[in-house]
Amino acid sequence: MSDNIYEKFNVKKVINASGKMTILGGSRVNSDVLSYMKEGASNFYEVKDLLDKTGEYISRILNVEASYIVSSASSGIAQCIATAISKEDYSLIMNLYNEDNKKREIIIPKGHIINYGTAIDIPISMGGGKIKEAGYSNKCEVVDVEALINDNTAALIYIKSHHCVQKGILEIEDYIEIGKKYNLPVIVDAAAEEDLIKYYDLGADAVIYSGTKALEGPTSGIVIGKREFINNLKLQGSGIGRVMKIGKENILGLTKAIEIYINKNKQSIIEQEGRLNNFNLELNKINGVQAINKRDEAGRAIIRSEISFDENITKISAVDITKRLKSGEIKIYTRDYKASLGKIEIDIRDVSDDELNIILTKIKDILKV
Ligand SMILES: *Cc1c(COP(=O)(O)O)cnc(C)c1O
Repeated sequence: MSDNIYEKFNVKKVINASGKMTILGGSRVNSDVLSYMKEGASNFYEVKDLLDKTGEYISRILNVEASYIVSSASSGIAQCIATAISKEDYSLIMNLYNEDNKKREIIIPKGHIINYGTAIDIPISMGGGKIKEAGYSNKCEVVDVEALINDNTAALIYIKSHHCVQKGILEIEDYIEIGKKYNLPVIVDAAAEEDLIKYYDLGADAVIYSGTKALEGPTSGIVIGKREFINNLKLQGSGIGRVMKIGKENILGLTKAIEIYINKNKQSIIEQEGRLNNFNLELNKINGVQAINKRDEAGRAIIRSEISFDENITKISAVDITKRLKSGEIKIYTRDYKASLGKIEIDIRDVSDDELNIILTKIKDILKV
């Protein structure tokens, strides 16, 4: 480019060694994403059609019911709140703030009242929500949430973020259970989280991600969720969604960024498999032991070694093996929930090659081979 932006507008030069900071503009967008953005900026589409089809494409590659691109995570929050309040009712969509409609209370654990650049109250209020804080900043239990539920409750929102108070806070699983029990939509703000599947799999109705954080896309956001909720969310395009619309270039840029993000995870799967192959090979030499690579049940980018022990041959149960693994000088924690069935799993994402060798040696030691 012939113009030097820093000089022409006299803006300060920045080296970003801080990570994904919104105040610095989020991410450096990769060149494939840029070419999608250029394509998008240079051509015309029926934007509604483009949003529908990119949403369907992303749903397909993520293997989820539905998803929808929005202009930012903040706008995703506002629009999801508006969706919970107005559902498919056109008059409510167009009269979002009409106080005659009392069913607009949004429950949030008190420790989740954060400021990520703006107060979380702002997008919730913009969506028409009336905030009801559950529990205390350092303690929120199921009863604290249930105590607030009444006929005017429209939704529960959960903020999954390092900004939140981390202690004494309700687990997301329990929170989603409350939603199911009272038939209330559960909205999860997972703006900066990396796992695009986890909260959806847990049963949240809508999970919101920022396009510029983990996904390294252009300014944008994505809502992943249940089909009915997402279908209603789309209707907000003729309501509050219109004041926070996203451009065609960023719709296409984010779609490409998500595709790249998922493939990067696939790459990490290949790496994990490579590291586990030798480990499994060594274990499979042991009589009564069978080790195979197993993909994460929830479809996340994780491969684990699943080791089956035939107790008749090994003379020690898998449960006892896990106890022995935890008891030594170095305590080895494995994934044990299938131990009573004779299987344990090794998740190597946070295990170095040296540590993997220690695990192998320890198992051999326990089996006296
Ligand atoms: C960054 C962030 C947001 C806002 O994301 P934008 O895409 O910048 O609107 C919302 N919630 C949390 C927890 C965040 O970290």
